Amino acid sequence: MNFTKPLVMGLLTLALLCSTLAEPLKIDRTRARNLTTWKPQITKYSERHYGESTWQLMPTCIVLHYTVSKGFPWNLVRTDSFKNETPGLAVHYVIDGEKVWEILPPDVRSRGAYGINHRAINIEMVAMDADDLATKKETLDTCRKLVKHLMAVYAIDKSHIYGHEDVATMDRKVVPEVLDFVRGAPYHKIDPGKQNMKTILDGIE
Ligand SMILES: [Zn+2]
Repeated sequence: MNFTKPLVMGLLTLALLCSTLAEPLKIDRTRARNLTTWKPQITKYSERHYGESTWQLMPTCIVLHYTVSKGFPWNLVRTDSFKNETPGLAVHYVIDGEKVWEILPPDVRSRGAYGINHRAINIEMVAMDADDLATKKETLDTCRKLVKHLMAVYAIDKSHIYGHEDVATMDRKVVPEVLDFVRGAPYHKIDPGKQNMKTILDGIE
């Protein structure tokens, strides 16, 4: 019996595993939302907007944004409501340069993109607008790394990485997951910009 083949296969698997772990993303959880208050509020939100009474997220897609701010968007951590409805706004991750903050764990629903919070992981990149973000190579690179990591963990296909702009069409031909029982109409969003989406997606197989 030849033991070489299983040994080689084993070493190849190990090498592959090491290469994916070679650049671990450091995730800062010091600015996280309080889940004790978040979970019951997002459960109610989810019931109203998606007909699903749960805080639990089984993500099928990732939505990318920019913050329209120069610094960290504290409103995503500190607000209690938005448009007279609880909870406040919050995404899963905020990226600034090499820095990644986790506001909510990826298995908890966020309130980051109207019409898709029941299926999406939301990621914000700190930038004023599309042109500003385009100059922030480090932020775009970090975002790509995080997206690749989440795609692997949740078996999400590249075709399910969306810009907020796509989601805002509320068109199921553009984004199959979109849904809202309160108001299903399109709304206006332009983030994070087509060129920035391309920059991020071009580095992903
Ligand atoms: Zn957005």
